[in-house]
Amino acid sequence: MDRWEWKPATVGEALQAAVSFFTQSEIPSPRLEAEVLLAYGLGVSRAGLLAMLRDQLTDAQQARLGELIQRRLTGCPLQYITGRQEFWGLDFAVTPAVLIPRPETELLVETALALLGRQDRTAWIADVGVGSGAIAVAMARERPRLQVLATDLSEAALAVARQNAKRHGVAGQIRFARGDLLDPAIDAAIRLKAVLSNPPYIPSGHIPSLQREVAGFEPKLALDGGEDGLDLYRRLAFKAGLVLEPGGFVALEIGYNQGEAVSSLFAAQGFRDIGLIRDGQGHDRVVTAVWPGG
Ligand code: GLN
Repeated sequence: MDRWEWKPATVGEALQAAVSFFTQSEIPSPRLEAEVLLAYGLGVSRAGLLAMLRDQLTDAQQARLGELIQRRLTGCPLQYITGRQEFWGLDFAVTPAVLIPRPETELLVETALALLGRQDRTAWIADVGVGSGAIAVAMARERPRLQVLATDLSEAALAVARQNAKRHGVAGQIRFARGDLLDPAIDAAIRLKAVLSNPPYIPSGHIPSLQREVAGFEPKLALDGGEDGLDLYRRLAFKAGLVLEPGGFVALEIGYNQGEAVSSLFAAQGFRDIGLIRDGQGHDRVVTAVWPGG
C-alpha cells in the first residue's frame, strides 16, 4: 500500500475501504474477511455490522479498525487477530502458538469416529501434537466414554488446548501432557485404542514457499516435518507399536503427496490393513493402519 488513507466517517465507508485494501493485497475472500474483522473490531456480529452501515464511527473506533486492517495487511491470519476458528461446529480459541485448525482435519475426526464405532466402553486414545485441541475436543464430545491423552512439546499450545477443553465441557475427559509424541503414554503405561495426529509434515525446504500467512505466522513446530516431511511419521510408527492395544489403530493426517510413503512406513513396522482416505479435492489426506499386536 503506497498511500494509507484512513478517514472513514461511517461503518459502511470503513467496510468499503477495507474490502478495497484487501482486494489490492490479493487476500482471497476480501469481503468476508473485511466483514469478520470489522465486526470483531466493533464488538458486534456480522449481521449486526451489516445493520449499522450508516452509523458514524467515533475517533477511537476509526483508529482501532485502522490498526486491525493494517495488521491483516501485514499477512497476519484473520484467526490470530480475532483469536478464534471454527472446527467441527465448535468455536476454538487460537493464538500464534498453535496451528489454525483446517477443515481437512475434520476428515481425520470422521475417519477415527467411524473406526471406533459406538465405543460405549471406556478406552484411551491419544492426540499427538494437540495444538489448539481441535481433534481431542471433537473426539471427546462425540464419544463421552473416551479418555484422551493430549500431548504436545509446546507448553503454550497445551494452555490453549486446555482452555478449549474447558470451553466445550470436556476437560474431565482429556489428560494434557507435555512431551515428545507418545512418550507420556509410554511413561504412564497407558494402553491406547487409537493414536490420532495431525503432525508437522511440510518438508523443511518448502516452508518458505507456503502462503505468507502460513510461512510467516504459523508455528514452525507445527509445520516442519524435517528434510522430506516424514520425520514425525517415522518416529510415530515405531512408538505407536509400543502403546497400542492389539487391534488398535492409528489415524493420521498427511500431506497430499505422502500417501504411499506413509503407508509403507507403517507397513514396515508391522501395521496391517493400511487405508488411505481422500479429501474433497481428491488428495490423499488421512492414513489409517491397524496394530495386530503380539
Ligand atoms: N495443513 C497445513 C498446511 O497446509 C500443514 C499442517 C501440518 O503440517 N500438519 O500448511
